[in-house]
Formats: sequence, structure tokens, C-alpha cells
Amino acid sequence: MLPFKLVYHERYDLNLGPHVFPSQKFRLIHEMLLREGIATPQDFLRPSPASDDDMLRIHTSDWVHKLKTGALTAGEVMLLEVPYSPELVEAVWLAAGGTILSGQAALRDGFASNLSGGFHHAYPGHGEGFCAIHDVAVAIRKLQADGLVKKVIVVDTDVHHGNGTAAIFRNDPTVFTISIHQENNYPAHKPPSSIDLNMADRADDDEYLGVLIPAVQQAVDEFRPDILFYIGGADPYCEDQLGGLALTKEGLKQPVATTLAGGYARQVEDTVRIHVNTILAAKEVAEKHPQSTAMPG
Ligand SMILES: [Zn+2]
Repeated sequence: MLPFKLVYHERYDLNLGPHVFPSQKFRLIHEMLLREGIATPQDFLRPSPASDDDMLRIHTSDWVHKLKTGALTAGEVMLLEVPYSPELVEAVWLAAGGTILSGQAALRDGFASNLSGGFHHAYPGHGEGFCAIHDVAVAIRKLQADGLVKKVIVVDTDVHHGNGTAAIFRNDPTVFTISIHQENNYPAHKPPSSIDLNMADRADDDEYLGVLIPAVQQAVDEFRPDILFYIGGADPYCEDQLGGLALTKEGLKQPVATTLAGGYARQVEDTVRIHVNTILAAKEVAEKHPQSTAMPG
């Protein structure tokens, strides 16, 4: 059994058919974790969909209504870059519920991971880049509304800038956002995060970790968050993600909740393996440093 919970639902599949986003990856990650004995069925929590009230703390009522009724304009679907379907809406409502549940579980156990989510390109009033709703922002506001956390850090290692996160929390002193990403990549418009680490094309492991680790450690030391949300895209280098996750966790002793985000390797098996490795890295850290994952009370 794992020393923390994983969050999964069989309806996480975004129903995209043949699309660059391998929406079956959520199921494949779940399968690989079980098949390789990394997790057992008891390690998984099953989320309920986020409530509309949860969604409306971040998203406009107009956008929530359009998603629920299928009333997106052609321009809005084009910006979203995925075909609209009721299954997509169900999946993202579940993903947001799953990220809320991971946050709650991380506060209890020190770490948790949602096997979906990380939809960091979504804005309050529209979706972008495969992201219809911002599950991490929804979860942060829910935990704050319930009085479970005050200050939150978001560390986003997806290769694409976390534009939705930056825009949502731009004027919010309670949420500190760090995005490390490839500068010459989507999205064209990058609203400022608290810290943006703009990497050159083909930045190597040393360059990447050399800026990420000190930035995260300093932010945590100075900001002292109640929880850290890690948006761990599989689209930069997998080794970087493992190193980043392990080092920050050891340094921090803060609850960490993770979500998956992007991952578009030519072979879906590679993407799945990278996401599974994130869970393995967390397991290793939790076993090596039990004191850092045990929360008082
Ligand atoms: Zn991405």
C-alpha cells in the first residue's frame, strides 16, 4: 500500500478520439500502477464531480452555463482546441472534484495525486489549449473557502506556460505561482506568474533544475504556504520532474497535491511511464522521510 492516496475515476477520459491529447492516458496510468504493483485498489480515492458553486468561485456563470448546455461558439471551441461533448464536461467536472479531493488528502497525509487535472490554460470566462476549466484554481478556492488553507504555492513544470493560473491569481497575495516552461512555445500571451522561469529551447537537465530548485525552495521559505500544488506535465523531461519533485518535497515539509497536465509523447506508453514515475518518486520520498509527510493533528 502507498503511504498516500491517488485519486482516479473511470470517467476521466476526455472523449477526444484520435487527438494529440491522449485522453486514454488516465486509464492507462491507472492500469500501469495496478499492473506493476505500485498501487493497490485501496490506494485510490474516487472523486465526485465538483459542485457548480465550486466552479463559480473561479469561472464566470456564463462560461459554466455554456459548458453545461453545449452552447459554446465556434470561436470558443477553436480556442479550446478539443471537440465539445457532454463526456468532456463530465470529465472536467470530475477532474476538478478529483483535484479538490487530492488537496484534502494531501493536507491529511502529506501528499496526494490526482490522475487527471492540471488544466492550467483555462481562464475564468473561456477555455484554451485543451483546458475547459481550471481544476487547480477551483481546488485552491475550495480549500480556502473551507478554511483548510490560507496560503498556497502552485509549481507548474508543464513545458507550456501556466497562463490561466497566472491570470487568475495575478492580484491575489494568498497564491504564489511559479511556472517553468519553454519560452518559445504556446501560449503566445503569457501573463506574469509570481515567478516565470523562461527556458531557452533545448535547455538541459542542469540548467532546468539549476533554476527550478532554488526558486521553489526560496519561495517556500519566504511565503510559507499551507499547501503546494504541483502541476507535473509529462511534456518537459521526465528526469527533471522527478528531481524537482523529490528535492522540493524533502526541503519543504509542506503538503503537496499533484495533478497531471500535458504529455504528448509520440508513444502514449512514454507519457504514461513519465506520469507513473512521478508517483514512484513521491513514494520514495515519503518512505525516506516519513516525518515530512506526517502532518500534526
Ligand atoms: Zn503542456
